[in-house]
Amino acid sequence: MKAAVVTQDHKVSVKNKELRQLEPGEALVQTEYCGVCHTDLHVKNADFGDVTGRVLGHEGIGRVVEVAEDVESLKVGDRVSIAWMFESCGHCEYCTTGRETLCRDVKNAGYTVDGAMAEQVIVTADYAVKVPEDLDPAAASSITCAGVTTYKAVKVSNIRPGQWIGIFGVGGLGNLALQYAKNVFNAKVVAFDINDDKLNFAKELGADVVINTLNQDAVEEVNKATNNKGLDATVVTSVAKTPFNQAVDVVKAGARVVAVGLPVEKMDLEIPRLVLDGIEVIGSLVGTRQDLKEAFQFAAEGKVVPKVQTRELEEINDIFEEMEEGTITGRMVIKF
Ligand SMILES: [Zn+2]
Ligand SMILES: [Zn+2]
Repeated sequence: MKAAVVTQDHKVSVKNKELRQLEPGEALVQTEYCGVCHTDLHVKNADFGDVTGRVLGHEGIGRVVEVAEDVESLKVGDRVSIAWMFESCGHCEYCTTGRETLCRDVKNAGYTVDGAMAEQVIVTADYAVKVPEDLDPAAASSITCAGVTTYKAVKVSNIRPGQWIGIFGVGGLGNLALQYAKNVFNAKVVAFDINDDKLNFAKELGADVVINTLNQDAVEEVNKATNNKGLDATVVTSVAKTPFNQAVDVVKAGARVVAVGLPVEKMDLEIPRLVLDGIEVIGSLVGTRQDLKEAFQFAAEGKVVPKVQTRELEEINDIFEEMEEGTITGRMVIKF
């Protein structure tokens, strides 16, 4: 079967690969789609360590074609996802308290184990979340990573219906965060970005207020929109430091600031602001199997629509180049 394998020169080569026999607890999935994520770019560039020989991909969707004898959670024909959280230990303090993404022994698809940019993938059956049949499988691939990550982040923000939430960055993550906040959590949304095209897209998606932080004062504009109260929560999907600081500046006392984007920098936190105003700053990492199940369901109901474009597996190095040049809007999804 064909697979996108990381090579020593930080490229990806489409090669033939033989899969081993299934072991107990495993299932074989025939891949239909796999999205290409910024994390794949980091992995193949060895930013998280050398992974030469690894099959990339953690936004996979496919049909189960074989299950090991002992498997009860999946059957042949089920449509399932292959996500970044490929498997966790199942018995540590995190796994047993609904925080399996923080498991110290977690396995990640397309990084520590072979991923879904391949015609076939072996998965741990109990960790392959089923995809609703009425959800478009190409769109589902985007929910598997960006969707669940932003759904979880908005959930973690504790936003309630009618409250104001700020979404920083309206890119691949932010546009989904906006849709979940607006259409699932019934919040009022302020979208922040430095790109007018992205802010127009945010408006189309239903943002109540959009703010271009390059030429508008974030605090002033938020005060105007909220009657000087400030936002009830913010979710930061940006990959620069400035929006993280702005996200703290625009919230009201007692608010939560949820960090999702990953710039390798430090943010400035004024201790009096944190203490006197009781601001909570919290990180959010992908989502659990249950979060993914919920994120899929809302997409199947049409509340969240990812923007995807299908491509061929052979175009994988071109896609990474486009990603590095920043010319991609929406998600590139490989069709198998
Ligand atoms: Zn991803
Ligand atoms: Zn664990």
